[in-house]
Amino acid sequence: MEDKLMLMIPGPTPVPEQVLLAMAKHPIGHRSADFSRLVADTTAGLKWLHQTTGNVLVLCSSGTGAMEAGIINFLSAGDRVLCCENGKFGERWVKLAQAFGLDVDLVQAPWGKPLDPEAIRAKLEADTDKQIKAVILTHSETSTGVINDLETISGYIRAHGALSIVDAVTSLGAANVPIDAWGLDVVASGSQKGYMIPPGLGFVAVSDRAWKAYETATLPKFYLDLGKYRKAAQKDSNPFTPPVNLYYALDAALKIMQREGLENIFARHAKLTRATRAAIKALNLPLYAADEVGSPAITAVAPVEVAAEDIRSFTKKHFDILLAGGQDDLKGKIFRIGHLGFVSGRDVLTAIAAIEAALTGLGYSNFTSGAGVAAAAAELAK
Ligand SMILES: *Cc1c(COP(=O)(O)O)cnc(C)c1O
Repeated sequence: MEDKLMLMIPGPTPVPEQVLLAMAKHPIGHRSADFSRLVADTTAGLKWLHQTTGNVLVLCSSGTGAMEAGIINFLSAGDRVLCCENGKFGERWVKLAQAFGLDVDLVQAPWGKPLDPEAIRAKLEADTDKQIKAVILTHSETSTGVINDLETISGYIRAHGALSIVDAVTSLGAANVPIDAWGLDVVASGSQKGYMIPPGLGFVAVSDRAWKAYETATLPKFYLDLGKYRKAAQKDSNPFTPPVNLYYALDAALKIMQREGLENIFARHAKLTRATRAAIKALNLPLYAADEVGSPAITAVAPVEVAAEDIRSFTKKHFDILLAGGQDDLKGKIFRIGHLGFVSGRDVLTAIAAIEAALTGLGYSNFTSGAGVAAAAAELAK
């Protein structure tokens, strides 16, 4: 049915009406005092969200553009980097680093499992002559629904002295990512995930240590030269024409987030995750990642007796609910439920009910009708 689509995918995520309406205006001149005020307000809000006093710079890009900026501003061709890979987005980091001629060393974990912080520590401790310039990793691995132990890993990186370059695209705004407290250097994210904004803005948080590396980094850059964005930010401006209407959206979304409060945002995501996982267990479907490492943004399910893609088609066709599929090797093997951003308990109940209907419709009978909804409801009522 028209206009009834419900996004339960890990981006783009649903957008609140207040945010949509905030965008429904003529763009204003990006060199005007009004726009400067918007930049000042949103910059303050972004620092609050990132829990940092350092720069948070706004790019006109998707999340990958922010990741690319995070590489090319702080490194030089031939630099040794340690890429940590346990999924599709970890792989993207490897490809990105290789595309720019970096000397990539790898720490891997099987997809569906978390990175082993001790394996990263061992690599760093073995690097006594400090050849490793940066450790590059994904916090919430969206492709598998696994969250990595960024706090512990960051401690090991600090002890070594390399920069940390982090994809926090599906953790920022869902889970605690206290950039200053954890000593993170470069943190990339994108508007269509926890921010509750349509796609189009990329964000990069940059520490003082990273700015020091910026001074000697020689990879070529122009549009994504973060020095330009830092200089403009000092005057509450942006070096190029920014997507002005997305700034309206950013301002509205940050205000909604500030009214909810960081702790409440994290608690809501944790509760939605518990409810989703409890429901999937009650339906006797295998969860792809273990409870202790389940991402607060996304839950991956690996059904055996019924095809993942059939479940997705069913919920889309009959209920206008979009679930995500698996990527690469996981295509057809898993489906993923996004519970990130502008998502409430009601959305999870609806999605679980639709999944139950799909299971019944597809002839899967290894569950008691209503068990998933009941399990989710029990968690949500706590
Ligand atoms: C969505 C996502 C990205 C960014 O993808 P874009 O399509 O470039 O916005 C990066 N990393 C993770 C973990 C993601 O979930």
